[in-house]
Amino acid sequence: MGRLYAPRPLSAGILLTYKCTNECQHCMYACSPKWRDDWIDLKAAEKILEVLSKVFREYYPEGFNQVGVNIGLHFTGGEPFLNFDLLLSLVEAASSHNIPSVFVETNCFWCVNDDITEEKLVKLKKSGLDGILISANPFVVEQIPFERIERAAKISRRIFGRNTIIYQEIFFQQIKSINLKGTLPFKEYLSIMRERDPLGLYSGLSYPSMLLMGRLPYRLGYLYRRKAAKDFFNESCFEELTRNWHVHIDNYYNYITGYCAGISLGDARDLETLCQDGIDLDKYPIVSRLTSFEGIKKLFTYASKEYGYEERKDGYVSKCHLCLDIRRHIMSRANDLKDLRPREFYERL
Ligand code: SF4
Ligand code: SF4
Repeated sequence: MGRLYAPRPLSAGILLTYKCTNECQHCMYACSPKWRDDWIDLKAAEKILEVLSKVFREYYPEGFNQVGVNIGLHFTGGEPFLNFDLLLSLVEAASSHNIPSVFVETNCFWCVNDDITEEKLVKLKKSGLDGILISANPFVVEQIPFERIERAAKISRRIFGRNTIIYQEIFFQQIKSINLKGTLPFKEYLSIMRERDPLGLYSGLSYPSMLLMGRLPYRLGYLYRRKAAKDFFNESCFEELTRNWHVHIDNYYNYITGYCAGISLGDARDLETLCQDGIDLDKYPIVSRLTSFEGIKKLFTYASKEYGYEERKDGYVSKCHLCLDIRRHIMSRANDLKDLRPREFYERL
């Protein structure tokens, strides 16, 4: 069947864990407090950082430190601040390898007062962190009091300046405009926004602000128009799965491209081999189909024949919904597939 060459990453995220304080309805990586308490091993992560540092040198000039969602390296999860000591050690390691544009992504659960927030951010900055990405959206504030997010934004701007990313600014401003204190159930958010904006033009829930993948189609699918499986049949995912920007490496060392959580291109501890020699597609039944011409159709046919997959009568909100629904079904039948990992991802949707 041939080989698929994993991309040499232009930008990457390292998931310290899938464990999170939250179980956001839109989470692409299906993170939650229920996940096993597994964390990336520092020694293994250091080896990965060494390789990333070499690869990044092909793209970035010496000393480059401008932060952007698709630039450099970010530490993420799950929630990285649940293990602050590990986060700090990883930032130090990234800094010692001169990795460009290192930032951390957080939901700000830990920003309970100004002193704690400042103390942690200053420590990280002194250890070499270049910036921060603060999650701000109606799903995070279902569980995180909005004042913690505002506090993180205010103090981060002081410490990291323009290397502070609020993701997404549209939601941050929206929630600020209703003077939210504390948390807000999503249903209430929706009714407030519908009253203000009956056509839904500025709700931020429309394309391109939300990616219709991961947990979202299962929890929020009722908000979107649905289509039949055949409407996605002519799509291939070659581009997404071989994309070199914003790849992820999880705490089980799965090399994940295209935001395609639950699909592994192999063990990132061997990243150089993955990129140089590629993977044998005979051993990757899902990836081999998804990257071929009419890949979604091929995956659907394979899953129907081999695993008895049946099309959902209520349709799909996106090709990623269809792809994930098929993969989830396969995982409920298969013991272990090299390209569908980690298993727990499929159990936490
Ligand atoms: S979206 Fe972020 S905060 Fe929410 S569950 Fe996922 S990792 Fe946690
Ligand atoms: S359809 Fe599947 S493989 Fe393709 S981009 Fe979506 S999640 Fe990734």
